[in-house]
Amino acid sequence: MKTVADYNFKDKKALVRVDFNVPLDKGTLAVTDDTRIRAAIPTLQKILNDGGSIILMSHLGRPLKKLNDDGTIAINKHSLKHTVPVIESLLKTTVIFVDDCMGDAAAAAAKKLMPGQVLLLENLRFYKEEEKGDVTFAQKLAAYGDVYVNDAFGTAHRAHASTAVIAQFFPNHKLFGFVMANELASIKKVLENPARPFTAIMGGAKVSDKILIIEQLLQKVDHLIIGGAMAYTFAKAKGGKIGTSLCEEDKLPLALEIIEKAEKAGVKLHLPVDSVNAESFSNDARKVGQSSIMQIPDDLMGLDIGNNSVALFVEVIRQSKTILWNGPMGVFEMSKFENGTKKVAETLAEETRFGAYTLIGGGDSAAAINKFGFADNVSYVSTGGGALLEYIEGKELPGIKMLLD
Ligand code: AMP
Repeated sequence: MKTVADYNFKDKKALVRVDFNVPLDKGTLAVTDDTRIRAAIPTLQKILNDGGSIILMSHLGRPLKKLNDDGTIAINKHSLKHTVPVIESLLKTTVIFVDDCMGDAAAAAAKKLMPGQVLLLENLRFYKEEEKGDVTFAQKLAAYGDVYVNDAFGTAHRAHASTAVIAQFFPNHKLFGFVMANELASIKKVLENPARPFTAIMGGAKVSDKILIIEQLLQKVDHLIIGGAMAYTFAKAKGGKIGTSLCEEDKLPLALEIIEKAEKAGVKLHLPVDSVNAESFSNDARKVGQSSIMQIPDDLMGLDIGNNSVALFVEVIRQSKTILWNGPMGVFEMSKFENGTKKVAETLAEETRFGAYTLIGGGDSAAAINKFGFADNVSYVSTGGGALLEYIEGKELPGIKMLLD
């Protein structure tokens, strides 16, 4: 595996695929969370320090799926120009922005780029060719640079033009950025040779989204903790009364199958024993209280794990030496239902201090660990939700494969 550390960028134009798909404020369109931009800085700094120049390529949102009411592309809402001030302040240099990733202006800007300069191209997904993995589109992008760097782990599971297809035009000049390299190292540490006991904590909305990863993890972990909305499907499958809680009725047999498979594999499965319930899916809901997860009143829905479940899960986490966390324990976005997720995050931070290796798997778990202020106190927070899950599921990620071929 060749990374940017193995390459001298002096006088080279580096075409760098980053993941600057950052959240923007709905009104001002300013960047509200710069985590992904900050993550790419070491790679960019290495190129500049060597005496190279940078052409940045990224997507932002899904502009072709979220059109204006009149069917046109919502350009301003999806423009990468909003990231320019953040990149400039983190890199401490000026960024040249071109409002199109194709066409004469982009080609001319790339051509006259000098060592030490940074050029940002407009959102790749303004062109349908990007997500289609169009070879001609990829070839046009490839013509801008001398060397290709992929540092966008968040899109490594997509066979898009800029994330995978383009690599064929740089047979001897394609490299992993530091984000990619660190992501792979952290997943390998967990999956290939974990210090034991190894515990996976799975949460989130649906069993169906997580089934493949749960099946893979059953081959590897000592403990599997399940929380979040999907725990109610398990409770119902076991004969519980779950009121109006979220439930995937058609996944009840699957839940029983997982319980059985865990038993066969010698994995200790920990399900919540109690639940925080409310009348409606709202922070203003009345009648918030706790009950056994098997005895939720008919008119209430479970929105977080209860205190006994927190104590149980904390105890398991405290015994573990390697912990992988994916998915919240409840509706952590609402303060009344954040406790389970917050306590898990807090315990992971504590155990990291005592030497456990803790990997937080992107998406909502990363948002939660950020929200509760523990992101710097765990071993690694993945930048890629979907990509990480697919990797753990055992799928080949095109963005990684194309760099290795
Ligand atoms: P996922 O995208 O599958 O990881 O699901 C994350 C979402 O599940 C978060 O937005 C949580 O608010 C939500 N969630 C977690 N627990 C519950 C629950 N008990 N009922 C409804 N939604 C939940």
